Amino acid sequence: MAEVRSCPVCGGADFSDLFAARDHLVTGDSFRIAQCCGCGLFATAYPPDEEDIGRYYQSDEYISHSDKNDGLTEQFYHLARKYMLGRKRRLVSRATGKKTGTIIDIGSGTGYFASFMQQRGWNVTGVEINDRAREFSSAKFGISTLAPSAINDLDDASADCVTLWHVLEHLYDPGKWMGEVHRILTVEGRCIIALPNIESSDAQWFGEHWAALDVPRHLWHFSPDTIMRLAEEHGFVCEAVRPLPLDLFYISALSYRNRGRRVALLRGVATGLFLSIVNLFRRNKASSLIYVMAKQKP
Ligand SMILES: [Zn+2]
Repeated sequence: MAEVRSCPVCGGADFSDLFAARDHLVTGDSFRIAQCCGCGLFATAYPPDEEDIGRYYQSDEYISHSDKNDGLTEQFYHLARKYMLGRKRRLVSRATGKKTGTIIDIGSGTGYFASFMQQRGWNVTGVEINDRAREFSSAKFGISTLAPSAINDLDDASADCVTLWHVLEHLYDPGKWMGEVHRILTVEGRCIIALPNIESSDAQWFGEHWAALDVPRHLWHFSPDTIMRLAEEHGFVCEAVRPLPLDLFYISALSYRNRGRRVALLRGVATGLFLSIVNLFRRNKASSLIYVMAKQKP
């Protein structure tokens, strides 16, 4: 077990211990959540070493959400995915001011977003750590997908857009990745980052049971302040912040399941509706947020 040695946002080494959270997806193991005394970044303390994290991903939920369409939850998931793909595409176009161009999708998983964009004329390259997911996305969609180490081979200023949909919180060295993203983006390029929001109203509501803690797979638990500071350290400026409205319902239902409550889906939807209304005028309290980052002008 390795402790959090230094904060990727401010470089500080002092963390205060907060509470324990459980891995509800794979192992049931418990992990401590801590907060950097320097900048306020929340982190999973004593996460597994990078070589050992693989076993915490050994769940079908990470690879599949396959094409089987049985069950109400699966059908809801597929509908939500379709809606989100369209929304993401519009966001990429608005952020870059382009109808087509070059995208690097970091953490491309099984390639659904990459394929959706490729079909609409974008030139897409995926970057994915999971061998099975990489093979799946090339075989099913014909997406060219690189292993993370191959990011170094991408040319400087070669991408109009780099997307990280719920990925940065999984990376051991998010600062190094932000540096690489900056390098491969064109001057007018945009980086789009989606993250769970540790300052969301549902994070406060569910506390240690908040499903988006997702320890130990989530190593960092960003707030709007801490992600913007990390981005600034690496030459970016945050241009826009948008809520991801559907995540609240999904995360709320999962959080009730984590607490062992029955009819978790129904409770999740009810709480989701309530918190959506509470959040109407407090966008920064959304369960997940999308940040559009531009390069700082020299
Ligand atoms: Zn810090």
